[in-house]
Amino acid sequence: MKQARSGEVQLDELVSRLPAMSPMERAAALESLHGNRQNILMGKPELVEQLRRTLSAEVFAQTAAQLIVRSSGDSDQPVTARHAAEAQVALMLGSNPKIAERLLNKGVQVVLIPEDTQLTSLKEFRHLDGQQITPRHGTWNQARGSGGTVHVAVGAENLTGGTTSVDRAPHYDDGYSVLIHEFAHTINKNGLPDEDLLVLHEAFRQKWDKVNLGEQVQWPDGPTFGASPTHPNYSATNVEEYFAQLTNAYYGANAGRDPYTGHVRNNGKNYVETHESPQVMDLLKRIYGTHPSPVIANPVRQTKLDNDMWKGFRDFQTAHADRTPSSSTATSTTASPKLQPTTFTTSDDGFLDVSTAAHLKSLGHTPTNHTQKHPQPTNLTFPPEGLNTGTPRKPMNR
Ligand SMILES: [Zn+2]
Repeated sequence: MKQARSGEVQLDELVSRLPAMSPMERAAALESLHGNRQNILMGKPELVEQLRRTLSAEVFAQTAAQLIVRSSGDSDQPVTARHAAEAQVALMLGSNPKIAERLLNKGVQVVLIPEDTQLTSLKEFRHLDGQQITPRHGTWNQARGSGGTVHVAVGAENLTGGTTSVDRAPHYDDGYSVLIHEFAHTINKNGLPDEDLLVLHEAFRQKWDKVNLGEQVQWPDGPTFGASPTHPNYSATNVEEYFAQLTNAYYGANAGRDPYTGHVRNNGKNYVETHESPQVMDLLKRIYGTHPSPVIANPVRQTKLDNDMWKGFRDFQTAHADRTPSSSTATSTTASPKLQPTTFTTSDDGFLDVSTAAHLKSLGHTPTNHTQKHPQPTNLTFPPEGLNTGTPRKPMNR
């Protein structure tokens, strides 16, 4: 009882001191804050408003990210994964404090899913256990991302370039960001005013109008169709996926191939400037800033290289220790005792976009065809995988 009261006092003190702290002091104070305490702070609209008015946009976004990202600490590289997630969220909120404030007031969270854990094992998503996403894409138990609602989920492996051991879970391309995709859905649904939503709907409709007139149209995920004339690329399936993949492209985190057409996705701000309308470009600039920092997303290849290097180092040490079984070398072999080289799979398929299903089910959004002429997309499953920031990676020790 005394401890609880002491904790409350400390939290009250933190609330009063937070706005005037230096950025480093504030970051350190929030670093060890978890769960309920994050909820308590973001549940104080006066505090959030004061922080928004007091801090620079960039620092406010970093503070918001520390309150939004939730990690159980059970992933393979919990600190690296959390910091990567915070960096991504801060990047996406850094140019628009109003959106950041709106999301904090709504209690938005980004929950990291440990590599060996199903999405539906997390309490926030338990209600989806056993539920089918679409007939073709299995159940939510295999999903590695979800967005659109106040609870965003992202597989920790997408933040570190690692792998998940969840059965039949999708693997995402190196350079493809799940967090940016899913968090974009939540910005779309919880952070944008109606006039911005109108811009998106109009842009999406115009693209399909051109397709129906027989024009070749480029989307964030490449050409409209591949071999199948009935399965458009993921970003063309509905306006929500269009915006999410557009956001990925804007940040350069849309690497890889579209799972429906097989074509290489478009990636980078230049694509947006070249192939999207000026209104859409203006919208992205207003939401994400004029100069989006390219994101290093899901660095599968680099992480494998790092692990191979550490494995070689460990093998060398082990061999050396075998030859000279003295106490001194025994000590050196413990220098990297917990390295866990992982087997990496770079499958291009298996995309499973939980977010669209989230739209369909949680938000009551029915994926209608925005063009009357085009056959309605029947499969809205998807996609994209994980992301990653430039956070320095470490060997796979826990
Ligand atoms: Zn999606």
